[in-house]
Amino acid sequence: MDLHALTNDPEGIVEADRAHVWHHLLQHKPHDHGVDPRIIVEGKGLKVWDIKGKEHIDSVSGGVWTVNVGYGRERIARAVGDQLTKMCFFGGTAGTIPGATFSQMLIDKMPGLDRVYFANSGSEANEKGFKMVRQISHKHHGGKKSKILYRERDYHGTTITCLSAGGQEERNAQYGPYTPGFVSVPHCLEYRSQDGSNGEAYTAASLKAIEDVILREGADTIGSLCLEPITAGGGIITPPVGYWDGVQALCKKYNILLHIDEVVCGLGRTGTWFGYQQFGVQPDIVTMAKGVASGYAAISCCVTTNAVFEQFKDDTDKLGYFRDISTFGGCTAGPAAAIENMHIIQEEGLLENSTTMGEHLKANLHALMEKHRWIGDVRGKGLFAGAELVMDRDSKEPVDEKTVAAIVGDCMKQGVIIGATNRSLPGFNNTLLFAPALIATKDDLDHITDAVDQAITRVLG
Ligand code: PMP
Repeated sequence: MDLHALTNDPEGIVEADRAHVWHHLLQHKPHDHGVDPRIIVEGKGLKVWDIKGKEHIDSVSGGVWTVNVGYGRERIARAVGDQLTKMCFFGGTAGTIPGATFSQMLIDKMPGLDRVYFANSGSEANEKGFKMVRQISHKHHGGKKSKILYRERDYHGTTITCLSAGGQEERNAQYGPYTPGFVSVPHCLEYRSQDGSNGEAYTAASLKAIEDVILREGADTIGSLCLEPITAGGGIITPPVGYWDGVQALCKKYNILLHIDEVVCGLGRTGTWFGYQQFGVQPDIVTMAKGVASGYAAISCCVTTNAVFEQFKDDTDKLGYFRDISTFGGCTAGPAAAIENMHIIQEEGLLENSTTMGEHLKANLHALMEKHRWIGDVRGKGLFAGAELVMDRDSKEPVDEKTVAAIVGDCMKQGVIIGATNRSLPGFNNTLLFAPALIATKDDLDHITDAVDQAITRVLG
């Protein structure tokens, strides 16, 4: 096959994709029945163009909340190109100049944290965090402090072990048996309060639910508690006021490491560098991926305190160091892109923009809620928001999966890409998601929410 000709032949590309590409998360059956695979060919700012030439405004930063600084940043591409030409890769025990530079930049924004461990994906970074906790348990607690707590509705990645720490049943089903030693605590979505309480009472009940699990399992068997700062794919769950203070206090009281998964919230998504900084908590382990290089290169990090790191320094024990590696943790494209990404966020005031435009986005969604009785709740922080759809505000019966898909599809026809929560668990499958690039303007956001307004009217009336 003439590959040069293929690359310049849109129909040939669509057919090659239909025949050979296994897309993430996709039910492929419609591709057998005339629906073409979606192929995105170009992006600039918040906009992307597909292979048929149609323009879309992207309210989910590359589909999976990644392109925080927007598309088409030549500055990042140039920095990556220059770095790869000079020194593309060196893995294993050696460091690199962009690795050290980016670590310094990152740690400057994360008071109380000290060490950066490089990997490639969010799942992998979380797995590193879990392995650190397990090794500390074996090295210092006779293997006893190995359990890891996670929360219902949170997601920490796609490997079998990350799924074992995943609180979204619909993602986990059919992939067991799971890795042992992971124990769940209840979710903290006040809108779907488990006991009907709200406000301070709900916060207290949510914290008591975590403490009950700690006491049931035994604090001396638990190494860490792993949480998303704001649950992302599980429904944009902003924790109730006071929740994070309470979580921190529980971790201190029971000597449990706090591992915060910033894979989505990291690098400005919520209006601060990291989501946890919205809540004034001090984690021991922080994992991040998507926004670290905004998708211009694959990079993730597991960042720890010196207190965690020092537990691996031990020259009397030859098994004492962290016996973990990630081959492509030695690729310099990641930190080279991440350095420019951070400069852009800083120089263009994107944290501030995420905060102010996030308020605008939420105000627009609240206005839609006034207009459409189908919107039961609006949640989020910064340019990270969700609108939960219900059939009835009193019963909170969720709208069904097909209706959510129809609204997303209607927006797509209008040239607006929006997201929705993973679809199959009643009560959680019904939230529209918005996480545009942090450069979004009022006009962009009005364009997005106008499309949602029309879609809801057309689909639900
Ligand atoms: N943690 C969270 C909170 C996520 O949303 C995701 C991915 N959506 C991951 C971890 C896993 O990241 P990756 O797909 O890069 O492995």
